[in-house]
Amino acid sequence: MNDMARTLSDASQPTSTLFTDSILTNERLTSSFEVINQRFFQGKIDASIIWQVPKGLISINKGTPCYSLDEVPDRLVFEQAAQAIEQGEMDFALSLLTPLADKGHPDSELLVCHMIKRQHGHWQRYAKAYNSHFVTEMLAPAACYYPNSQTIAIHPHLLHRDVPMFVLRYLIYHECCHQIIPSSAEEPHSAEFMTFEAKAPFREKSLAWLRKEGFPTLSNPSPSPTSLA
Ligand SMILES: [Zn+2]
Repeated sequence: MNDMARTLSDASQPTSTLFTDSILTNERLTSSFEVINQRFFQGKIDASIIWQVPKGLISINKGTPCYSLDEVPDRLVFEQAAQAIEQGEMDFALSLLTPLADKGHPDSELLVCHMIKRQHGHWQRYAKAYNSHFVTEMLAPAACYYPNSQTIAIHPHLLHRDVPMFVLRYLIYHECCHQIIPSSAEEPHSAEFMTFEAKAPFREKSLAWLRKEGFPTLSNPSPSPTSLA
């Protein structure tokens, strides 16, 4: 009976439990920062660290890959189609552009779409294919560094997902790099930054965990295959 009463009374006091947890997790954050700062930066990083949803959103391109006219024959076909359009030879232009559109070339998809809009019923397919190249999503990053206040913010959602220590340490390492290698809004992760960042502990494992949890992550530092317009 007494045991039962105690259990019920414990369960009815979630606030004190939460309070203890939050102290523990704040300590965990600060001590993780200290470990990384000492081990990798000789204690030179001067920053505070907090649980807070990072303020900036990251735009992620979720579009299908574009087919570009790098091959000479394809480029010539496209130019020939443009000439045919100018001369009013729409059927001929359409026959030239359709194979390029089927390969995923955005300009051809758009032209095919316009040309067959009035003549045929299947133009939506090309409109859809064109639009699918340009899908973006705005996501909050898992962590962020604010240079003005020298603050590292770690997304509190990580707490609810039982973030492993190695992920926390990886994120802290990454944000510490932002203090020692200044970056611009246009290019937050320069080549110099990435060279340094690549040495982060448990980097690949951490990125895989963050991807699995739906956070936007850096793509691998290998050269990007195609630059998007
Ligand atoms: Zn960064």
